[in-house]
Amino acid sequence: MDIQIVLSVLAEMRRLRPRDHWTRQQLEAHQADALRDLRGYAYAHSPFYQQLHQGLYNAPLHELPVLTKAMLMEHFDELVTDRAIRLEEVKIHMSNLTGDERFLGRYWVNATSGSSGHPGVFLFNRAEWITVLASFARAREWGGVRVDLTYRIKTATVASTAAFHMSTRVNATAHSWWMPEIRLAASEPKDSIVKRLSAWQPEVLIAYASMMRILADEQLAGRLQITPRAVFTSSEVLTEETRRRIVQAWGERLFNQYAATECGSLAAECEHHRGMHLMEDLVIFEVVDRDNRPVSPGVYGDKLLITVLGSRTQPLIRYELSDSVRLSPDPCPSGHPFALVDAIQGRVEDVLFFQGTAGGVVSVHPLLFSRIMDMLPVSGWQVVQEADGLRVLLSGVRGEFEDDMLAATLRQALAEQGANVPRVEVQRVASIPKTAAGKAPLITSNVSRSLPVSDVPSSGRSVKEAGA
Ligand SMILES: [Zn+2]
Repeated sequence: MDIQIVLSVLAEMRRLRPRDHWTRQQLEAHQADALRDLRGYAYAHSPFYQQLHQGLYNAPLHELPVLTKAMLMEHFDELVTDRAIRLEEVKIHMSNLTGDERFLGRYWVNATSGSSGHPGVFLFNRAEWITVLASFARAREWGGVRVDLTYRIKTATVASTAAFHMSTRVNATAHSWWMPEIRLAASEPKDSIVKRLSAWQPEVLIAYASMMRILADEQLAGRLQITPRAVFTSSEVLTEETRRRIVQAWGERLFNQYAATECGSLAAECEHHRGMHLMEDLVIFEVVDRDNRPVSPGVYGDKLLITVLGSRTQPLIRYELSDSVRLSPDPCPSGHPFALVDAIQGRVEDVLFFQGTAGGVVSVHPLLFSRIMDMLPVSGWQVVQEADGLRVLLSGVRGEFEDDMLAATLRQALAEQGANVPRVEVQRVASIPKTAAGKAPLITSNVSRSLPVSDVPSSGRSVKEAGA
């Protein structure tokens, strides 16, 4: 553990804090300056961007081509700005990773778990890594947990423990007397997690939304007895019902955050709970439709384009994330200059496709399922699309309800969308199966998407996974 890193993160926090009180004009002026610096650097040092933006060096941001993860991985060695970086060697480094080691002695390497699609690999130099760490610390501060050297916060994180995963890497750097933390693998049995959390008594609890819902149920049932000052969820869609239960268990101290392996924390909730503030001083966000046209506040975009202002090793300019987010049309009383995201309805990959009763293909958004499933007295649920219909998994069922009734409700809701559903099968299971990263997606599909191209959102094959 490098104390210099901790001190640098604290210095970065001091630099970031005043920005909460910027005006929108100050923020936009900062973005314009930082974008100019980023593009200048990319054009000077990245052969890939020299080519991709040829003739567009002075064009406005929204006229530049979009960068997908597939493009980034295909042209990795030309995109990075240090010619000593070779993807093949980075991969070897990753496979040997056990702690806080750096590639070439100077780059922290993170990767998405690649449970669907190819993993994305992201390198951070020291300054970039400090910004990543500061972005997570800032999310805590917006949740009322002050980060400084005079107060040690007992933290518990239930997440993936894969060495290349961002939350593990952040922890490997930050773990110290400064931030005493236990990390539990989300794949551990529930009873063991409950026991260890009760023994540790964390002041701050961090977990994926699906895991937090299970823990909230354990708390409500009296099996888990902890009193955290703040609980943070991330990486998965936080449904209304999951939020309600967590608040019931621990009070109004739930703060959702939105993070990505590409750059750290992207957005976080403040004490007013009006949604998540985008960290627009670190990243320029564009909420767009499938043709990369901007959508208005109050409307869900098909994807999110991010321009990471501090990225130098691996510049990210109009990089595509397949998250469908909605900007709030209303301001937050906090007076932050940062725009609010009031809802994330998941990734384009969470949209399921069905044959239409009137021919063609019908796309069904995750919200249709969560509105119904969320009302059930269960700890966890998952909708799995199979070739012959839907399999609905329920875990931790309390109280009475008819599985047949649930199946009929889902069939009817789908029929109202014009979808032809051959079969809905409800199964009660001990626990919802988790991905390699320990997540339990609400919606998943085992059907290959052999649909006409025009029916599949343009980013449908590009998979992004929030990393922390
Ligand atoms: Zn706010």
